[in-house]
Amino acid sequence: MKKHNFYAGPSILSEYTIKNTAAAVANFAGTGLSLMEVSHRGKEFVAVMDEARALVKELLDVPASHEVIFLGGGASLQFCMAPYNLLNKKAAYLDTGTWASKAIKEAKLFGEVEVVASSKDRNYAYIPKNYTVPPDAEYLHITTNNTIFGTELHRIPDVPVPLVSDMSSDIFARPVDVSKFDVIYAGAQKNLAPAGVALVLVRRDALGRVERPIPSMLNYRTHIDSGSMYNTPPVVPVYAALQTLKWYKEQGGIAVIQRKNVEKAARLYDEIDRNRLFTGTAAVEDRSLMNVCFVMNEAYGSLENTFSEYAAARGIVGIKGHRSVGGFRASIYNAMPLDSVEALVEVMQSFEQTV
Ligand SMILES: *Cc1c(COP(=O)(O)O)cnc(C)c1O
Repeated sequence: MKKHNFYAGPSILSEYTIKNTAAAVANFAGTGLSLMEVSHRGKEFVAVMDEARALVKELLDVPASHEVIFLGGGASLQFCMAPYNLLNKKAAYLDTGTWASKAIKEAKLFGEVEVVASSKDRNYAYIPKNYTVPPDAEYLHITTNNTIFGTELHRIPDVPVPLVSDMSSDIFARPVDVSKFDVIYAGAQKNLAPAGVALVLVRRDALGRVERPIPSMLNYRTHIDSGSMYNTPPVVPVYAALQTLKWYKEQGGIAVIQRKNVEKAARLYDEIDRNRLFTGTAAVEDRSLMNVCFVMNEAYGSLENTFSEYAAARGIVGIKGHRSVGGFRASIYNAMPLDSVEALVEVMQSFEQTV
C-alpha cells in the first residue's frame, strides 16, 4: 500500500533527495567510497558544500550583504546562538507558539527581552497583529510558521528594526525578502534534509556589535570565515540538502513551489470546512500552508480513534495532532505531492459517509 507521509518533522523528503542521497551513501561522486567515510575537506565534498550554499543564495535571492552557512545543533541551538551574536541590550520577540517561547527563554540569558505580543491566551490559535516594537530593540524575533499550532505569518511585519526569524517549517515554501532580516535560521528536517543540520542566513554587518566574548563554535563569524567547515559538518544532511535544493530549482524555483503549496493547502482546508465531522483549529486568516491542524467536531469527538485507524488503514501516516492541540495535524511540506493531499481528502470524505 502506498504510504502518504504527513509527519510534522522529521518529515517527507522528495524521492529525488532520498534516491540521490542513498546512492551517494553507497558510492560518493564516483570515488568508490561512501559519502559517510570520506574527508569533508576533499574536493568532492567541498564542491557539495559550495554548491548547496550557492543554490540557497540563488533560490532565495539572497543579497550580497548576507552569508549562508550550515551548522549542527538544529534550530534549537539558534535560539541561543542568535542572541549570543546579536543581542547587546534589548530585543523584541513575538510569542506565537512553543518554539517562539523557547527562543524567548534562551534570549533572556543575553539581555532584556520585550515580548511585544503573544497569542498564548487562545492556545496560539492566531497571529497577533497590532503591536508596537520598541525602536531601541536590536531586532524583532518572529517564527514565521508555527509548526505545532498550524499558524503562519502571511505578511512579514513592517517594523523599524531588523528581523530575526525561525523559518524551520516554512523556509523555501514561499519567496522571502531576505534583506529585511539580520538572521534567518531553519532546522533542516521539515523542508530540506534529514535532521542534523540547520541552515542559517546572516547579515555580515549585524555581527561584531555585541561586547561579550563568543565561543568559537557559537560565533557566526567562525562559520562564515571557514565556509561552514570549521569543524566536521554533518555531511549526509548537507548532501541531502543539496539534492532538495536542486529539486526545487528543477521545478522552477520557490515561486512555483509556493503556488503548489497554496493549492495543496486550499484543497485540505476546503474539505475541513465542508466536512461536518471536522473543524480547523487555527484562525482562518492565519492558517498555515504547511501544518494543517483540525479536530473532530464536538458531536463526533468519540470518533477520533476510529478515524485515526480508518486513515492509517488507507496509508495515511503521521496525522496525529501535537499533544498541546490534540486532534489531527497534516503536515504538507514542499515535498508533499498534491496526490497525497487528495488521498487524505478522499479518506475524510469516505469516512464521513460511514458516520
Ligand atoms: C522543528 C522546529 C524547531 C526545532 O528544530 P530542531 O532542529 O529540532 O532544534 C524549531 N522551530 C520550529 C518552527 C520548528 O518547526
